[in-house]
Amino acid sequence: MKAIRKVAPRPGALEWADIDVPACGAAEVLLRVRAASLCGTDAHIYNWDGSVREMILSTTDHFRRPRVIGHEFCGEVVEVGRDVRGVGDGASEPIRAGDLVSAESHIVCGTCYQCRRGQYHVCTRERIIGVHRDGGFAEYIAIPASCAWLNDPAAVPVEVACVEEPFGNAVHAATEYDPRGQCVVLFGAGPIGLFSIIVAGAFGAERIIAVDTIAFRLGLASRVGAHSTLLSIPVLAGDPGARDRERERIVGLIRDAAAPYEPDLVFEMSGHPDAIDAALRAVRRGGKVILFGLPKQQAITLERYAEDVIFGGVTLKGIIGRKIYGTWARTRELVSRPDVRSKICAVITHTFPFVRYEEAFAKMIGRDSGKVVLRISED
Ligand SMILES: [Zn+2]
Ligand SMILES: [Zn+2]
Repeated sequence: MKAIRKVAPRPGALEWADIDVPACGAAEVLLRVRAASLCGTDAHIYNWDGSVREMILSTTDHFRRPRVIGHEFCGEVVEVGRDVRGVGDGASEPIRAGDLVSAESHIVCGTCYQCRRGQYHVCTRERIIGVHRDGGFAEYIAIPASCAWLNDPAAVPVEVACVEEPFGNAVHAATEYDPRGQCVVLFGAGPIGLFSIIVAGAFGAERIIAVDTIAFRLGLASRVGAHSTLLSIPVLAGDPGARDRERERIVGLIRDAAAPYEPDLVFEMSGHPDAIDAALRAVRRGGKVILFGLPKQQAITLERYAEDVIFGGVTLKGIIGRKIYGTWARTRELVSRPDVRSKICAVITHTFPFVRYEEAFAKMIGRDSGKVVLRISED
């Protein structure tokens, strides 16, 4: 079968390889992959950024076994392992050849302290498909049955099914606090930010204001339900005066756009230190901030921590992954709605055949894109 493998510890170094179809383990399902999408993590692997190096080096024996990448995908079941009784919560849903499944990319241990308390999404021994083991940019993949989530193939097209994993991040982030009737402000209109707008709107947010530095993404934000969009101007590092002025300008524009409401719920999905600071400044007293964006550096400076967080009585909540399987059940409910599906498709701005993966990476890294999808196999 064809697969895309990372073969060396340097930028690029992807190989269009011909390798064996994996065997289906007793507790696994073998999928014929239909479509996959590119994620920021794939770009980090492509660029060989520091955040992913150790995870890949340690699990490939320093590339003695190259790593098939890709963790956002869907596929058709072609084989079910002999010990598999079912999938989903309590393995209660029967699974058969021909079913269309989306993959949960995090393989959890089930026995650590967090798992025993039902917090599988923060398992301390998790393994990520396409990072710690071979992934879905391949014609076939075997995954644990516990990572297979069933779709209704009559309702859910493959391009929607293949983005349910990142869409699930947005479902987790945007439903952690009920968005109904709330004034929502979003920093960072990348794919997961855009998906969060869809989810907040679907669950009845009163007003949605999106902030980004890229006009193309704000155009998409409007298409999927943002009521106001604000273009922030990137400030050069080393000019703290300009940084403060731009933050105050954006926070002022957010307050104007929110009136007569105030920002109840702020989603920080850019990971930019200035946006994190602006998010804390923008949220109303007593409001909530969802933190999802990953900063490039470790340290973040909060200019007015005491005023913005403590005196403001603000709730901060970090979000990672998807709740297993609560988020997936909500995702199923959302993708059953035609209005939600059509908005998800609007976020998918580019689709490439599998073999043109280099173009797909260039498009995604260029940032004038929403979600970029690879069609792995046609009908
Ligand atoms: Zn991802
Ligand atoms: Zn665990």
